[in-house]
Amino acid sequence: MKRERRIKIIATMGPASASEEMCAKLFEAGVDVFRINMSHTQRETLPARIAMLRSLEKRFGRPVGILADLQGPKLRVGAFGGDGGAMLETGARFVLDSSAEPGTARRVNLPHPEILSALEPGHTLILDDGKIRLVVEKASRTQAVTRVTVAGRLTSRKGVSLPDTTIAVSAMTEKDRSDAEAAAEAGVDWIALSFVQRPEDMADLRKIVRGRALAMAKIEKPQALTRLEEIIEASDSIMVARGDLGVEMPLQKVPGTQKRITRMARRMGKPVVVATQMLESMITAPVPTRAEVSDVATAVFEGADAVMLSAESAAGQYPVEAVAMMNSIAEEVERETVYRSILEAQRAEPEATGADAIAKAAHEIADTLNLKAIAAWTSSGSTALRLARERPNSTVIALTPNRATARRLTLVWGVHSVVTKDASDADDMAARACKFAVREGFAKLGDRIIVVAGVPFGTPGATNMVRIAFIAKEHVDQA
Ligand code: PEP
Repeated sequence: MKRERRIKIIATMGPASASEEMCAKLFEAGVDVFRINMSHTQRETLPARIAMLRSLEKRFGRPVGILADLQGPKLRVGAFGGDGGAMLETGARFVLDSSAEPGTARRVNLPHPEILSALEPGHTLILDDGKIRLVVEKASRTQAVTRVTVAGRLTSRKGVSLPDTTIAVSAMTEKDRSDAEAAAEAGVDWIALSFVQRPEDMADLRKIVRGRALAMAKIEKPQALTRLEEIIEASDSIMVARGDLGVEMPLQKVPGTQKRITRMARRMGKPVVVATQMLESMITAPVPTRAEVSDVATAVFEGADAVMLSAESAAGQYPVEAVAMMNSIAEEVERETVYRSILEAQRAEPEATGADAIAKAAHEIADTLNLKAIAAWTSSGSTALRLARERPNSTVIALTPNRATARRLTLVWGVHSVVTKDASDADDMAARACKFAVREGFAKLGDRIIVVAGVPFGTPGATNMVRIAFIAKEHVDQA
């Protein structure tokens, strides 16, 4: 079963996609990675969900990726008295403080001492997903005096976003720590951390995960953009979390920011996911809007590794149709005559390493000879990642003895993984690469493929060999 596109599709699980039958339909329609949103998932249910998704691997004979997405700190105001809310009028003074007394039209509790300590005059507070805005005039450790700049009715426990304020606490809450441990133990492939502000946040996640899963940074705070390169460096992949990003920064800045993040992640060879509201109207309608189709297409043209569905697949009325639509948009864009030239324009220069030199050579040989596949023997997945960074015309077939590597690579642009025992010598390496290229539907008798490997085999980071191999009758017979 092979995909006819290079970009990958992530679908969020939820009530609309809880059953094994529905997940099987979503996989057939094009899902490469299932996302479990820990904001709506009891950690005790993880082992059963993961067992269910792993059973799809047996059914379809393909690796299935699983991403657990941690909730992160959800900052909220305290409770109001009376009817549970108050109207905040433009120009009025409004105080957020440490008193637990019920809120009024003049003040409300902000039960986060770390925010009160970090606020400074001039900082903006965005309440209730952007509906109300306050600007701080005076701040102390116990209260912030603000002026209302966008009016609205504020009710109990509404969310608070702080686009200007860096909070001196980790992005991980106690719930996130327990969820990360449970997800790593249950065997997910990727764990995403929400509201990352600095590279140290990723180090906190890694300390808990200890290599059992790879770490994804969700970029949804403007503060993260000021240290983007370091955060990408500290992460195994990046998500452009456009939902919260669009609350914390002016909406018109989100598309440019998406392009900058995508390009930087591509240059650094880290998989990048574009997420949120991609086919939003398909929550309730069987077809998307033209603007949504363009939004997905933009991410495909930009060479993102994956596009993501949220409520469309988790709680929508048309989960399978949404995946099928995303799949056909991606296939269509990748067939466009201008697609390659747009992708090539952002082609990353190789770094001065053997792996990158080999990746570039493999790409160029494949292009010169118009070959369909580059087969890469990879144990950690890093050779496949560096090849994918080249965004070659040919599919990268990752041949790996590690099931975990095959699963992790489901997120990566243009990579089709196969689990097989390590090669014993250079001839075995070429022969089995040819056999798998035929078996998986990428080559036929008489074709040539490129084979990339590190010799001696099984030594991580030792990519040093590139070979052109010819598909002979024996490979077709063995496939
Ligand atoms: C987002 O904000 O875009 C996002 C993906 O995060 P979440 O769905 O967890 O709010």
